[in-house]
Amino acid sequence: MKTLIKNVHALLPDGTTPLTNIMIEGDRIKAMGEVPEGFLPDKTIDGKDHFAIPGLVNAHTHASMNLLRSYADDMELMDWLTNKIWPVEEKMGSDDIYWGAMLAAAEMIRSGTTAFADLYGPCEERVAEATIESGLRGILSRGLIGVAPDSDKKLEEAAALYRDFHGAGEGRVTVMFAPHALYTCPPEFLKKVSKAADEYNAEIHIHMSETQGEVENCLKEYGKRPFAHVESTGLFEHGTMAAHCVHVDDEDIDIIKKHHIRVVHNPGSNMKLASGIAPVPRLLKEGICVGLGTDGASSNNNLDMLEEVQLSALLHKVAACDPLAVPALEAVKMGTEYSAQAVGLKDAGRLEAGALADVVLFDLNNVMWCPRHNLVSLLAYSARSSSVDTVLVAGKVLMEKHELKTLDEERIRFEAQRCADRLTK
Ligand SMILES: [Zn+2]
Repeated sequence: MKTLIKNVHALLPDGTTPLTNIMIEGDRIKAMGEVPEGFLPDKTIDGKDHFAIPGLVNAHTHASMNLLRSYADDMELMDWLTNKIWPVEEKMGSDDIYWGAMLAAAEMIRSGTTAFADLYGPCEERVAEATIESGLRGILSRGLIGVAPDSDKKLEEAAALYRDFHGAGEGRVTVMFAPHALYTCPPEFLKKVSKAADEYNAEIHIHMSETQGEVENCLKEYGKRPFAHVESTGLFEHGTMAAHCVHVDDEDIDIIKKHHIRVVHNPGSNMKLASGIAPVPRLLKEGICVGLGTDGASSNNNLDMLEEVQLSALLHKVAACDPLAVPALEAVKMGTEYSAQAVGLKDAGRLEAGALADVVLFDLNNVMWCPRHNLVSLLAYSARSSSVDTVLVAGKVLMEKHELKTLDEERIRFEAQRCADRLTK
């Protein structure tokens, strides 16, 4: 299958936005620029008055938590988790996980996300199913709570997910191991996860240093800060993606650099749960890969990655009283290129020959895109994801002119409401 996106403004890795053509063959961008003679497309998309960017990558979310959107808001993290979220999650079955993930998939495609890293469970295989059906890319993991009495069974489920789905959906699904956090996973359990990851040569997805309380309790219980503590279990010997990293100091940053840990910043969730402000400008300056995530829809409350890009561009300016902290292009790269690196998608996040054909088109026929002095700036500060009108993943069209091609949105909304009503009754 060959697709030509014709006459479109495209965001190149250097931040320029020339008018160009994007030639796609199979699941990759074959070339950009002049249409070569002999390139006969099966499909042509008119890119006039459109802006093409690499697909947004949500590097940390809990897709099926979409069912809990607006169920419990304005609470302390631990109160929120123990009294509202965990009791409902206890009741979640396979059907709920599936329809929650389908609702998330529809929302992600509509807002220009082409890949997402998910940490949830049980029944994470249903999220894999939703990923494959929707056409998205998923970096999936069965979330592991080590203090649970059946933690070994959960770890076996995580291994089964790896065996059954790593590389599935023509390679669009990959699997990681995900111990939830150090406060739900004792060191002995982290060592077990590390051993399992070793066996499968898998990577790790974990929540780290989200709150000040987590750091204080870790110091009290183990005499070490979270990064030093988890390092001592061997977990970081595997490629690791660490969500949040709000409360990190020099020692933590040294460990992050030593193990090439990729950080996932979740500004919307951190602001809503009042967790604090991650030192993102410092992390970027240290050469650390910092991607972006929405976290779950019950702590955000949406999966809109453009919003996270915009929050990143704004939050760190006010935090540092520095209008130059995290400029527009850097914020956009955090949501695309750096997020792709964070989740292990080596060839995604950039519009260039050879890259995966994960492309999002914004319709510029909209007041928020006018006048067009600087498209990157408009994207980071002015645009809304509602102007995303076309989305391709692996060269396949998932949405065209606002019409979802792989999902039945009306059915999804009906089933999601049905599941949510039953769970919270
Ligand atoms: Zn999370």
